[in-house]
Amino acid sequence: GELVRVDGLVKSYGSTRAVRGASFGIAPGEIHALCGHNGAGKSTVVKMLSGQEVPDDGTIRVGAEVVDLRSRRVAQRGGIALVDQELSVVPTLTVAENLLLGDIKASWVNRRRTSGVRFRTLLDSVGLGHVGLDQRLSELGIGERQLIEIARALGQDARLVILDEPTATLSDVESAYVYTAVRSVAAAGCAVLFVSHRLGEVLDLSDRVTVMRDGAVVATTPVAGLTIDS
Ligand code: ADP
Ligand code: ADP
Repeated sequence: GELVRVDGLVKSYGSTRAVRGASFGIAPGEIHALCGHNGAGKSTVVKMLSGQEVPDDGTIRVGAEVVDLRSRRVAQRGGIALVDQELSVVPTLTVAENLLLGDIKASWVNRRRTSGVRFRTLLDSVGLGHVGLDQRLSELGIGERQLIEIARALGQDARLVILDEPTATLSDVESAYVYTAVRSVAAAGCAVLFVSHRLGEVLDLSDRVTVMRDGAVVATTPVAGLTIDS
């Protein structure tokens, strides 16, 4: 079955109908790509999923829960976490401090132990075994910071992790680390929504792809067996 169900999302900005009825589902453990040209409505869908924009119409369900469309908190949004293009990790703080900030955002500081052991496990799970908890983020590469964002989303018990063009500014080597982390997020049972312009990574990484055009979903299809004429 599906873990995430998006139904009939609509969003206009003035007379611009940015999204005019987007529906799709994501299964647990699935890597689902969201594709389409510039202006197709991808970012607006992501913003509605992450709580940065309130839809004019439509619903988002995670499991049996209907998401509170006005809340931005991961926990109150059924565990929807966004790894943004503009990184929200703080370069002047250490790795541990950044992960702690994630816990504070999730309002968990008093409810669960924010231990170094837990942070260590989170880092290991995204392939950052070589990074120290006391290292400042400014000492790390941009790819590693991206992975810390992913670790932080996992630490917030995300059930849907959204990555908005996570490799747009990364080298091929750094991108490969992100792919590995994304695969392990999915293997842990999360649903993953992966927004991308790069056809190659979409075909290599994702199980299904939803294609948007002019604010509408024009297709959702399994990637296995897709052949692309060059
Ligand atoms: P991308 O395709 O990489 O998401 P866009 O150029 O579509 O980039 O959008 C970048 C940002 O600018 C987004 O936050 C979007 O909401 C905003 N934006 C896009 N188009 C407009 C517009 N016509 N007026 C105001 N803001 C816009
Ligand atoms: P994509 O991410 O696929 O490039 P967007 O969701 O950013 O597409 O944009 C969809 C449409 O909505 C575009 O026509 C864009 O210009 C418009 N749009 C997006 N954000 C805004 C905004 N904040 N204000 C006005 N128009 C916007």
